[in-house]
Amino acid sequence: MTSNGYKLGKHLASWQAAGLNQLNISMDSFDAATFHKMTGFDMLPQLLADMDTLLATTDIKLKINSILMAETAFENLMNAIDYVKDRAVTYRFIEFMQTRDNSDLFFAQHAQSDIITNYLLKNGWQTHIRGSNDGPAIEYSHPDYKGRIGMIAPYAAHFCDSCNRLRVSSQGKVHLCLFDQGNYDIRQHLAHDDVAGLVNTLHSFMPIKPEHHHLHESNSGMMNNLSMIGG
Ligand code: SF4
Repeated sequence: MTSNGYKLGKHLASWQAAGLNQLNISMDSFDAATFHKMTGFDMLPQLLADMDTLLATTDIKLKINSILMAETAFENLMNAIDYVKDRAVTYRFIEFMQTRDNSDLFFAQHAQSDIITNYLLKNGWQTHIRGSNDGPAIEYSHPDYKGRIGMIAPYAAHFCDSCNRLRVSSQGKVHLCLFDQGNYDIRQHLAHDDVAGLVNTLHSFMPIKPEHHHLHESNSGMMNNLSMIGG
């Protein structure tokens, strides 16, 4: 599940009881003032405390997602490296993607992924061999660090070649690609616990799953902004 972590502390026990085994939290800064400015909420200390509770008390796998922005990239990287020293967490930078509502910010803040990867490779981090079920991130590990640093670079060549992702929005719609032109309602299957019907429906979608996005043509499909689906 992807979340901004706003209610992590409140819901952690029930999410764990429901069988959640992996959580991706969006957290774009380790600086409380910057976090407040970006999100509108002054709750970075609470989020950090709640994530530490998750790590200490559950076996839910935690990944943190952060948008790679030119202004904060290096400071974030230094903080992320400190953060994963003793925590089995993957901190992933996601290259800034242009959607319909963010063109000005995109052109002001878009940074290439090598700003991060060059530093890592020069400082003893090594590319982690990817498994067949792994997502689109290239992850870097270091023998002295418990966690990893990841990079998701959607503008890179062949980024979509091994895509194995479907996403379900909080409205019960399947997105076959983050940047598809439409989505597909599966709510009736979910509401009636109709597992067989859901499996059949999902199989029927596979032939029309897009092969790749069209971000290079400034086309983000129906994704006006990524908060529509949570990152
Ligand atoms: S096909 Fe779509 S969902 Fe899959 S990796 Fe590419 S952009 Fe992401």
